[in-house]
Amino acid sequence: MIEIRELRKIYQMGEVQVQALRGVSLKIEPGEFVAIMGPSGSGKSTLLQILGLLDVPSSGSFRLFGQEVSKFREEELADLRAQSIGFIFQQFNLLARTTAYENVSLPLLYSSHHAEPERAKRLLGEVGLLDRILHKPNELSGGQQQRVAIARALINDPPIILADEPTGNLDSESEKEILKILKELNAQGKTVIIVTHEKEIGDHARRVIRMRDGTIQSDERFKPEYSPAPAAARNEAPQKKSKGFLSSLNPLETAQHFRQAFRALLANKVRSGLSLLGILIGVASLIAMLALGEGAKASIEAQLSSLGTNLLSLRPGSRRSQGVALESGAVTRLTMEDAKEILAGVPEVSRVSSSVDGRVQVTFGGQNWNTRVEGTSPTYAEMRAAQPVIGRFFNEEENKQRARVALLGQTVVQNLFGGASPLGEYIKINRVSFQVIGVLPEKGASTWRDQDDVIVIPVTTAMHRLLGKDYVDSIDIEVRSPDAMEGAEKAIQNLVVKRRRLPPSLQEEAFQIRNLAELQSALSETSRTMSVLLASIAAISLLVGGIGIMNIMLVSVTERTREIGLRKAVGAKRSDILAQFLIEAGVVSLIGGLLGITLGWTATWAMSRFAGWTAEVSPDAVLLAIGFSAAVGILFGLWPARKASRLHPIEALRYE
Ligand code: ADP
Repeated sequence: MIEIRELRKIYQMGEVQVQALRGVSLKIEPGEFVAIMGPSGSGKSTLLQILGLLDVPSSGSFRLFGQEVSKFREEELADLRAQSIGFIFQQFNLLARTTAYENVSLPLLYSSHHAEPERAKRLLGEVGLLDRILHKPNELSGGQQQRVAIARALINDPPIILADEPTGNLDSESEKEILKILKELNAQGKTVIIVTHEKEIGDHARRVIRMRDGTIQSDERFKPEYSPAPAAARNEAPQKKSKGFLSSLNPLETAQHFRQAFRALLANKVRSGLSLLGILIGVASLIAMLALGEGAKASIEAQLSSLGTNLLSLRPGSRRSQGVALESGAVTRLTMEDAKEILAGVPEVSRVSSSVDGRVQVTFGGQNWNTRVEGTSPTYAEMRAAQPVIGRFFNEEENKQRARVALLGQTVVQNLFGGASPLGEYIKINRVSFQVIGVLPEKGASTWRDQDDVIVIPVTTAMHRLLGKDYVDSIDIEVRSPDAMEGAEKAIQNLVVKRRRLPPSLQEEAFQIRNLAELQSALSETSRTMSVLLASIAAISLLVGGIGIMNIMLVSVTERTREIGLRKAVGAKRSDILAQFLIEAGVVSLIGGLLGITLGWTATWAMSRFAGWTAEVSPDAVLLAIGFSAAVGILFGLWPARKASRLHPIEALRYE
């Protein structure tokens, strides 16, 4: 059944080579009970680990069931290990925080062996632990833990049982029990090979192999008339039932993997919580930042359209040049006359609207409000997209007669009237009584001021009855088409300069013509820059979140190296380990992602509700966030998982 020839194992420790096995040859028949004894360091464990397919020899031949297994690939070894070998360790190697029942059932996860449903329970009963099925390792004595480990070794009904100092950590009472179980197993036809120091165990074996310095010193059979154990000992190789990666995707096993992943996550709540937090913050900030950017863009666009199109705005020059101009005696203030002349004298111009503005105190009933008043021409409504939502705009007649009529912005309505309709009411602006004839449409808060905190009245009324000005502050000019803007700008400049007979040195600076179309494009450029900026901040926070996850995954894998070793020792393949860690990472990032989306959404809502910022969560952002959290989970989970899955079982088990 087992046949090894000239087996050597060399451990490389930095510069030094340790020869643990120096050419060992051995044959073991089915049904034997073999004890391997010898001083510490003589290579017993190394030999047993190679026999158990947990490690590979450096050279030599190893035939198991007639197959040369030293040439097997890792996946084939895992299959063979799961089906034909039950390994019992000195340190028991049970999964902590997992019940006895689950520990015993663990190998079933990785084998195609179809055990009867209650096999784990029956085996626990056979080792005398029926009343401890739901106990966890830390609730069991050493002897009980080792009996759980024996039940686990038997779950796949393997023909060979290997035990490495199984009683090394136990009291003599437990030692007897374990020995009794092993003898019974041998009586049932299993081949038992046990590494031990205990002379007593050696006495029970039918064959004792003594080792020293990596070689076999003696090999004695105490019952020379060796007879196979009563029950038919098996010598045939278990059928190869190789499971490809695809078959490990079947629903039942996937469900098992998910259960394992959840259990592992729950077993380490703090760590799982921290990696979850990383994803959560990353995704939430992505959603919130993109929503802010989106909202800012939308509000800037709304403001741009409220500015009107093809508009030029004519204002007096800067203060400095104004000062100079005043000294030279030239008048650089704009008047209603200028507006009329521009409309009449420049053919490209379709409409003009003069305006003045100032701060005023408004009262209605007991309410008092300080706001901006803007005197405009009747054309303002159409040029600036300010058609009243209730009531009407004033007309040319009212403007001429300096009528005391007013249109209120939404903010003013809110502050003076609350929910009531202001139409027809009389308000006092700087103690002058005005009748409200309309309410202006909502324009939203701009970045610099609340555009709805305004009262619009006829420009002549504003100049003569309210602000005491005989000039206007600016003239808005609408040009017929975008192409005509440049020509119109020049013509207006000429006209104004000519009317005032300004000296050439002052012509440039006396007036400013602002092209609102240019302002618009500058604003949309700004909003684009802002979106990009916000998105990059979000991207950075995501990256940091991702690195956090990778860090935690790496720590988790390192911390659980022994667990991985054990899983591989009981038959898990690379793909199984990979699947488990990927599912864990996936679950963390999925939950983190979903919570992040919720938090991001809430934060966005809070920002627009309490800070008054416009913010919109777009479906794109949500999709991006979902995609991101999935990608982070897979990418950052894959690397540590791959690292873990590539370890040799015994390397992983030795890991401290
Ligand atoms: P035993 O089980 O008889 O005590 P081992 O098989 O554990 O002996 O060890 C045999 C020799 O190999 C010892 O000299 C030991 O120091 C060395 N050895 C065992 N495992 C390793 C390892 N992972 N790396 C380096 N040397 C090792």
